[in-house]
Amino acid sequence: MKFKMKFNKSVFVTILSLLAIVSLASANNVERIPTSSRVENLIQNMTLEEKISVLGGTGFATRPVERLKIPALEMSDGPVGVRFGQDSTAWPAAIGLAATFNPDLLGEMARNLGEEARAQNKRLLLGPTVNITRTPWGGRVFESYGEDPFLTSELTQAYITGVQSQGVGTSLKHFAVNNQEWGRGHVDVHVSERALREIYWPAFVSGVNAGTVSVMAAYNKINGAYCSENSHLLQDVLKRDWGFQGFVLSDWGATHSTINAALNGLDLEMPSSVFFGWNLFDAVKKAQVPLTAIEDKLRRILTGMEHLGLLDETQRGPATKNFEKRHPATALKMAQESLVLLKNEGGLLPIPNRKRVSVAVMGPSATRARTGGGGSSMVHYPAETISAVQGLERRIKEDSLPIDLDVDDSMTLPGDGVRDSAILGSNFHAEFFNNPELNGEAVMTQEPEKIDFDWEWEPPSKSMGFDTNYSVRFTNTLTPRESGDHEFRLAYTQAARIYLDERLIYDHWVVDADQSPLINETTRIRLEKGQTYSLRVEYFKKEGLASIQLEILEPSQLIENMIARTLEDAKSMAAQSDYVVLFVGQSAKTESESFDRTTMRLTRDQEAVILKSAQVNPNTIVVVQAGSPIDMTAWAPKVRAILYAWYPGEQGGLAIADALLGRINPSGRLPISFPKTWTDSGVASSYPGENGIATYTEDVFVGYRFFDGSPKQASYRFGHGLSYTTFANSLISTKINSAHVDSPSIDVVSRVTNTGSRGGAYVVQLYVGESQPLVPRPLRELKGLKKVYLEPGQSTDVTIHLDAQAFRHFDDVRNVWVTTPGDYEISILGEDTRLADHTVVRLESPDLKRFELKNR
Ligand code: BGC
Repeated sequence: MKFKMKFNKSVFVTILSLLAIVSLASANNVERIPTSSRVENLIQNMTLEEKISVLGGTGFATRPVERLKIPALEMSDGPVGVRFGQDSTAWPAAIGLAATFNPDLLGEMARNLGEEARAQNKRLLLGPTVNITRTPWGGRVFESYGEDPFLTSELTQAYITGVQSQGVGTSLKHFAVNNQEWGRGHVDVHVSERALREIYWPAFVSGVNAGTVSVMAAYNKINGAYCSENSHLLQDVLKRDWGFQGFVLSDWGATHSTINAALNGLDLEMPSSVFFGWNLFDAVKKAQVPLTAIEDKLRRILTGMEHLGLLDETQRGPATKNFEKRHPATALKMAQESLVLLKNEGGLLPIPNRKRVSVAVMGPSATRARTGGGGSSMVHYPAETISAVQGLERRIKEDSLPIDLDVDDSMTLPGDGVRDSAILGSNFHAEFFNNPELNGEAVMTQEPEKIDFDWEWEPPSKSMGFDTNYSVRFTNTLTPRESGDHEFRLAYTQAARIYLDERLIYDHWVVDADQSPLINETTRIRLEKGQTYSLRVEYFKKEGLASIQLEILEPSQLIENMIARTLEDAKSMAAQSDYVVLFVGQSAKTESESFDRTTMRLTRDQEAVILKSAQVNPNTIVVVQAGSPIDMTAWAPKVRAILYAWYPGEQGGLAIADALLGRINPSGRLPISFPKTWTDSGVASSYPGENGIATYTEDVFVGYRFFDGSPKQASYRFGHGLSYTTFANSLISTKINSAHVDSPSIDVVSRVTNTGSRGGAYVVQLYVGESQPLVPRPLRELKGLKKVYLEPGQSTDVTIHLDAQAFRHFDDVRNVWVTTPGDYEISILGEDTRLADHTVVRLESPDLKRFELKNR
């Protein structure tokens, strides 16, 4: 089924010309959306109570109205797979999808994803996440498409069209500027209208144009008002100017009021009806919220459901017969195309396979499949996950390659697993209480082997009810095998404490008003060998996401003792092998929704192992699995090859093996610039903000827009990505259909030739920059891209069309888009992001002369 909201390009142009109009927002300034008589009849037949019941969620669904056969709209996260679905495909994290620079391929994946959601009767997918990467530390950088609005917009359009073609709606999120997890529940983002229009909003415009059924309002505030009750954002811009006809749902727990939210554009409160339940009912009764506003919300939700076929009984079911539940082929293809070859000195990669070679494999991500980043985008139950070592073993076997692998699995990342089973007395005894104070009788007990739970928004058991505030007590004994300092690592949200022999050794038994980020704490305490201690860990949850994990490290596992031993092992393995491949990076526990990272560097032991290995073996290759930039200054100059693999999804291990062994030719490009160090980042001085306010002082100079005009350095710029072949790329013609400043139309043709000896893919990246801007503008901005596959010696011509959107900027004094007459440089950048070719075009207007005189 193809579902597209009524919204076309000419409407869009008209809308843009309306942007200068300033109006007071109210629930009534948005035109009534067109609906069917079926929807209108339903609305007319509903009681006020029934109407309001649909406007507040029940976890991950809307409330059904059985009397009128209105079903629940079942939802699921999210952007890269059906989150809790059994055997769902786990595609690579969105940053990796973006690194493919291949919207067509993303469209194919999105159709597969829609099909899987449909098969599981999840008819609204909470995604895509299209927030622009602003800070390299951002906890959710991995979950979105990077720093460039053009690339993000192209991908957004492909994703939404693909998912919705399967009768599954999308929820474009998080509207808007949810660019940091630090303080996300309350931070007030102060940002110029220009930066919003040019950088942070284009992907949302693209998603609305693609017909997204819904948009999710973000947690944070913008210029003083929470997104879920921000009339400028939701009423003036989204619904009026962009003509959005779908519904706005709140992010989970992001609603803060009844009347304000109801009047200023929120249609559906998720996950439950705290504000849009009886409070809203009373507000309507007291005429504080007009019935017309309630009906507008309903109309939007029901119309969306009708487009998805949910008002027709025949189309409601899970449709498992007609829809596939697994798509490993696109998961592999996306992972392969996402790999970015950052460095390959002397053609070290691929590893040769003609004569027998030995390869030492080390690092915390060698044998663990790092399928995705942490939080709501994680696909929990893929049918299979393939680690890098499994991928290598499989390919070596399949192709009978003369490669001997020597694998060392001893390194881990914080959160990788509980290494304490040997000293624990038995399984834990866990008691669950239906209140946050561990009061009364336990309502449920469990005997888990370890404390490692991600309940997130769900209660630990359905029987505990959805809205439950709960607490848990875990008890056990432990008998150390060594005397000395033991480290208790606790990672949790909200509140927790630890008792050892009834002595409180860690205490954080408070809940902040807001949702808690993930808290990582360590406590060291000396324990004696052979003595048995009682251990009690307590946890409570009141607000937002819930998770708790405990690791206990014995003295020999403490990092200072580990490093020395690991280095010794690494040294001897590296010295004895022809090649060393080190799998390093982050994990879903160290990079996740709900907190930002606090360093761009790898952990100390990972850096030390890379340096040691590079010292003894010049053929050291580093494969990084992480969702955001890593500061590589300490080690990158010392190693000859670096492959960036992101979180490559369930098939990631095969994709990595394919690249290392030369079965594929890497073709990914960086969708984010990597600052050399944190202080080189354009937001180092303004992140995370002060007194609850994050001021975007860099304005439109985000990512490469900052580095292109700054003495600060990126270790690798946006768009960088090498391959095992070489390409030449030049501009061969610029056809000016119209040079008029009001309606420019230019066709740029560039020729790409594979000048090397292997087949491979190349991304034409076309940038436009105003030569002498009157207002500060980026040197060049991406305005066109095309990925092409070429055999050795083959050439192709790529035509990219440029229209008004390629040249304009937003004038936030007059509140309009403008294109200035004058010269514009059109450039293409090569694989290493150096200028490959450029030309200049001049846009004119009848009164250009006068304009030039005035500005002299
Ligand atoms: C996230 C959303 C997600 C929702 C439901 C929130 O914490 O910000 O992206 O869709 O939870 O899981």
